[in-house]
Amino acid sequence: MPSDPVSCPVCQAPAGKILEISGTVPPVRLFSLCRCPSCGFSFVPDYRTDYDVVYSEAYYRGQGSDPLANYLFDHQEPAATLRRYEWSGLLEVFRTLSPAPPDKAKWLDYGCGLGSLVRYGRERGVNIFGCDPYGAAAGKGKLPEDGRYLDPYILAREDLQREGFDYVTAVEVIEHTADPVAFLGEIRPLLKPGGVLFLTTGNAKPFRNKFTRWSYAVCPDIHVSFFEPETLALALEKAGFRPEFRGYVKGFTEIIKYKILKNLKFTRRSRLFDLLPWPVLSRLADAKYRVTAHPVGVAA
Ligand SMILES: [Zn+2]
Repeated sequence: MPSDPVSCPVCQAPAGKILEISGTVPPVRLFSLCRCPSCGFSFVPDYRTDYDVVYSEAYYRGQGSDPLANYLFDHQEPAATLRRYEWSGLLEVFRTLSPAPPDKAKWLDYGCGLGSLVRYGRERGVNIFGCDPYGAAAGKGKLPEDGRYLDPYILAREDLQREGFDYVTAVEVIEHTADPVAFLGEIRPLLKPGGVLFLTTGNAKPFRNKFTRWSYAVCPDIHVSFFEPETLALALEKAGFRPEFRGYVKGFTEIIKYKILKNLKFTRRSRLFDLLPWPVLSRLADAKYRVTAHPVGVAA
């Protein structure tokens, strides 16, 4: 396989192509997957830039490159959707990791999409805001009627900018960005000193030699950046954060429960699921997939 080195977007070392993966969104084509031998970052250098096509309305309906994600259903059926497990877990993680008391802390969900997590948090008394600077949903008039929970221009609000946020989440966002250090650099000034950035993304390390069997890597139309924990720590450092490895904090049980059931192609919650011993099952899944090995970023 030809392997013209390209520069690693995280550490700039030369990285070679390890394989080719086909996209699924027309016009369908092959993408290169490169891996940096120096920092372990894997990435798609020839990523798509026709964002209107890949992040179309079909994408938000679960008819695009990620058929397991139906953001419109999540937003319209918040009591029924499986994603409620993830929202519940994210709220627990916030209560655990927020450097300020949870009833006082200001939380920004960066890359909030339709804002379903923001609404879930607000309904539970959390001072959470949402923004989606990439604007696929928020910026183009595709917000549902109840998008009042969101301010797509929240970052332009001077009061919020001046005070900063105690806590920022980017839930399954960073794998969509081609320049992760720049992405993290956009978030860094939004945090107060000591503020915490909690990211969720898959861990590439267990899949180092079997990328084609990893659900994250087989959507190269949209997923273009793949991290091992040490790589994410390096990217955080380069963007001005102090990486901290907090491990399996409270809340991950529900987040991993959501991921397991989603990958089993369930879309709705069920009381039957709640009969299963999730504290054990989520730990077992994490021992294999190591999603909790990723660091958080502290605005030191
Ligand atoms: Zn690198």
